[in-house]
Amino acid sequence: MPILDDHMHLRPEGKGVEALKEFERAGGTHVILCHLPYKGVKIKIGRDFRKQYQISLDLAEKCRRETSVKVYVMLGPYPGHVAWLWDSLGPEATLQAMNEGMEIAAELVREGKALGIGEIGRPHFPVSPEIWAASNETMKLGMRLAKEAGCTVQLHTESAGPEVWKELAEMADSVGLAREKVVKHYSGPAILESENHGLFPSVLSSKDNIIAAANKGSRFMMETDFIDDPRRPGAVFAPATVPKRTKAMLEAGIFTEETAAKVHGEWPGKIYGIDME
Ligand SMILES: [Zn+2]
Repeated sequence: MPILDDHMHLRPEGKGVEALKEFERAGGTHVILCHLPYKGVKIKIGRDFRKQYQISLDLAEKCRRETSVKVYVMLGPYPGHVAWLWDSLGPEATLQAMNEGMEIAAELVREGKALGIGEIGRPHFPVSPEIWAASNETMKLGMRLAKEAGCTVQLHTESAGPEVWKELAEMADSVGLAREKVVKHYSGPAILESENHGLFPSVLSSKDNIIAAANKGSRFMMETDFIDDPRRPGAVFAPATVPKRTKAMLEAGIFTEETAAKVHGEWPGKIYGIDME
């Protein structure tokens, strides 16, 4: 049975491939590794993102060599980046750097090195209206580039009530990106159309979230958002969580075989176009 963790991070100074081995030992078969800002490469101009992305691509390659897990990569300028760059670079250079970072991610998707663009979005902490607007602008560019490259985006935004999902869905519409090609990482069990407006929820795999999601249906994926930070081991959830949780849900009868097959097979296959055999 395929088991996908839809959103995990690894870091060179963290557990790295050892974390993925824990995932594999627990029964995990597929993972989406999401880029995050690494130490050591400071972003001053757009092309610095290429060096940053290479760290994710190298980690993924190492994981492929040392495990049998199918490893996919999402690349993009992190949602907080606009806010972080703003003071030192100023508005114009910040937007230029962000947009170039987005273009480089799309280029690596077209070259087949990355699966999609993510995690991108907007800050989940309070920022000025200018920074908010600039974050929205780069997020929208990411969606447009995903549409052009035929790939998926993974978004991270402020925690979302239905009105936020609706706003993001309309943003996707405005650039012609299919709503289901927008995966909303760090989702609660917002799996009904009335809650997510057709975007695709990647549900953070707490026990409560997954039970609540399964009680409503099977249109969702599961993630840990493991951040591989030596100072916060096991945050947000440990690498083995998705396979363990899935098995526990099956044993408890909360997942049917059909639910598991959809969550870990049919949906990822459809949303990302990957082979889930
Ligand atoms: Zn994340």
